[in-house]
Amino acid sequence: MSGQDGFIDAAMQRAIQLSAHAAAIGNEPFGAVVLIGDEIVGEGYNQARQLLDPTAHGEVQAIRDACRKLGRLELDGCVLYTSCEPCALCIAAMAGVGIRKLYYAATLQACEQLFAGAPALGRAATDVATLRAAAGAPGGGEVIASAQRSNTEALAVVADWVRKKTAMESMREASITRSDNNQGGDA
Ligand SMILES: [Zn+2]
Repeated sequence: MSGQDGFIDAAMQRAIQLSAHAAAIGNEPFGAVVLIGDEIVGEGYNQARQLLDPTAHGEVQAIRDACRKLGRLELDGCVLYTSCEPCALCIAAMAGVGIRKLYYAATLQACEQLFAGAPALGRAATDVATLRAAAGAPGGGEVIASAQRSNTEALAVVADWVRKKTAMESMREASITRSDNNQGGDA
C-alpha cells in the first residue's frame, strides 16, 4: 500500500469512526472529515437531532469545523471524506466553499435501503431523487412551489451593501497607499 492510499484509508476510517459516534449519542449514523493534503482540518458527524438543526449533516459539520479552524470561508484544495455518499444539501455546501474532491464509503442508495427497514426517523421523509431534482433547479423546480415578489426592494438592499462594501474597500486601499508613502517618507 502506498503512502497515498494509507492516508486515504486513515481519513475514511476517521469518518466512519465519527459516524459510529453520531449513532452512539442518538444522531443519525454519518460522519465526515475535511483534509488539506494529508492533514485533517475539520471533523463532523450528524448532529441534526442533538442540535435540532436539520442542516447539521456530517459533511456540513465537518465543513463548519474546517472553516472555523482555518478562519476562512473558502476551502479550495480541500478534500472531503464521508462515511456515506453526500446528499444534495451537502454537495451544495461543498461546492459553496470550493471543495472539488470527495471520497465516500457507503452509497446513498444502499443507506436509503437500510433506512427503509428502520422505524420512523422523526423527521420529514426525504428521497435522494427528489432532493437532487429540487436542489439543481431554479427556485426548487417542480418539487418546491415558488413565486417571485418584491424584487426591487430586495435588490436595493443588495445594491446598497455592494456600494458600501466597495466604498470601504477603496478607503482601505487608499489608507494602505498612504501608509506606504509615509514609510518611504523623509524621517
Ligand atoms: Zn447531507
